[in-house]
Amino acid sequence: MSARGDSADIVFLGGPVMTMDRSRPSAAAVAVGGGRILAVGDEREARHLEGPRTRRVDLRGRTLLPGFGDAHCHPSAAAIELQRCSLHDLEDTAEAYLDAIREHAVANPERPWIVGSGWAMAAFPGGLPARADLDAAVPGRPALFTNRDGHGAWVNSRALEVAGITRATPDPRDGRIERGPDGEPTGMLHEGAMALVERHIPEPTIGEIADGLALAQAYLHRLGITAWQDAWVDAAALAAYRQFAERGSLTARVVAAQWWDRAHGDEQIEGMVEERARSSVGRLRAGSVKIMLDGIIENFTASVLEPYTDAHGHSTGNRGIDFVDPEALPGYVTKLDALGFQVHFHALGDRAVRNGLDAIAAARTANGMTDTRPHLAHLQIVDPADWPRFAALDAGANIQPLWARFEAQMSDLTLPFLPPDRAALQYPIRSMHRAGARLVGGSDWMVSTPNVMQQVEVAVRRIDPEHRDREPFLPDEAIELEAALRAYTMGAAWANHADDRTGSIEAGKLADLVVLDRDIERPATDEIGDARVLLTLVEGEVVHEDPALDLR
Ligand SMILES: [Zn+2]
Repeated sequence: MSARGDSADIVFLGGPVMTMDRSRPSAAAVAVGGGRILAVGDEREARHLEGPRTRRVDLRGRTLLPGFGDAHCHPSAAAIELQRCSLHDLEDTAEAYLDAIREHAVANPERPWIVGSGWAMAAFPGGLPARADLDAAVPGRPALFTNRDGHGAWVNSRALEVAGITRATPDPRDGRIERGPDGEPTGMLHEGAMALVERHIPEPTIGEIADGLALAQAYLHRLGITAWQDAWVDAAALAAYRQFAERGSLTARVVAAQWWDRAHGDEQIEGMVEERARSSVGRLRAGSVKIMLDGIIENFTASVLEPYTDAHGHSTGNRGIDFVDPEALPGYVTKLDALGFQVHFHALGDRAVRNGLDAIAAARTANGMTDTRPHLAHLQIVDPADWPRFAALDAGANIQPLWARFEAQMSDLTLPFLPPDRAALQYPIRSMHRAGARLVGGSDWMVSTPNVMQQVEVAVRRIDPEHRDREPFLPDEAIELEAALRAYTMGAAWANHADDRTGSIEAGKLADLVVLDRDIERPATDEIGDARVLLTLVEGEVVHEDPALDLR
């Protein structure tokens, strides 16, 4: 513990402290002053820094951790969604969804469109809801509801009409209009087909998005999240972030990943350079570029090495879709890397992962080992030959461990359609980690909960925290608690180029800290995912506090 002249603003006493600092993994006390961590050590040393105005927080067995980072989430989309009709927290049945939709439509008579998100594919036969149900719930106005993973939308007849979609409309190149036996659109639009309707929805204003960012930020701070990477930011979202930061309201550290428009090539890079230059406002940076390489397994748009099977286990010959031409990709990535941009890939199938790594390899060959820290998110299937390449290329493995569990989406919509040897390679988190991959934690909120402790529980157990009696999903791929927490602290800080000043509890670093309501290392505490956050600090400032903090 380094002695300083000034007294501390806050001292945390009574531990445990999990520091994520490899040279001193645990401590009993921490002193904070002037927005920084002054000292890490034992109780006697921290008390030494107490003055008359120092706040004392007695941990008494409740864990102190570095503030959490979420390296792949969508708060700017959430900013809009949080003001729309959410189906996320409902019981997953068509009835529950339709009740909520009807209620929202009645409560918002002035809105020309009824828009929302959050339904689960498992609530409908074959994952396909029908427009007739939505017609009954929203009779006069167009309605569009995106599903929970954001890769499909349920629309009503009025929405199809407004968009001019009929049986004669061809499927777009990057998506599909679901049709009945008679060829009529059924009301389900996959991937790029969603855009045919979405472009008719009135755009929210920059001010409205900025207002919504306040809701998103408050929610994330309540969960202990002090930094994130927004994995899909267009010009409007970036302008809203700038406005929010200029208002002085952005307390989180945010890296915005500018959206790579896959309808265009490298002519879009110049605009990205300009946006990056004008977006260094407060804690906002915009030095990342998000390139979506493929879709998802459930609708066969993930790009895979081995073809999908049909329900009888026979190969279909379908290997999914490459959203970006793999021939052109290395050139784009090399150019972005040379300009100092980080590339953040959506890479879900094993062929997409390989294409992403190949593109990074090309950039490394051309530009050398730059400090751009490319990372690949989702990594649902990763071929063993690619596991060691993350370390060799210094590319981050951006994991969403919550998905590595048995649930309807896995049992009904994924496992039947993958060859068994590929299905066994899903979410190979331990294997990648052992091969040297740097794990970077992300939630993909609002696709999934941003609750870090729930994600950590699944990373450690591979069992759904909502159904703890279920069997684990490929349990050999579970990782240790320390490794899981590291992904959401140092790992996420690395992805945001902030690990030199955040991500661990070390003297001199910024005081971004979280207090949980329990000791998550105590073996008796088997329910990691139930841990609640009692206090969140950013640079020593309280951004969330639960009254229970002082009750013990
Ligand atoms: Zn995402």
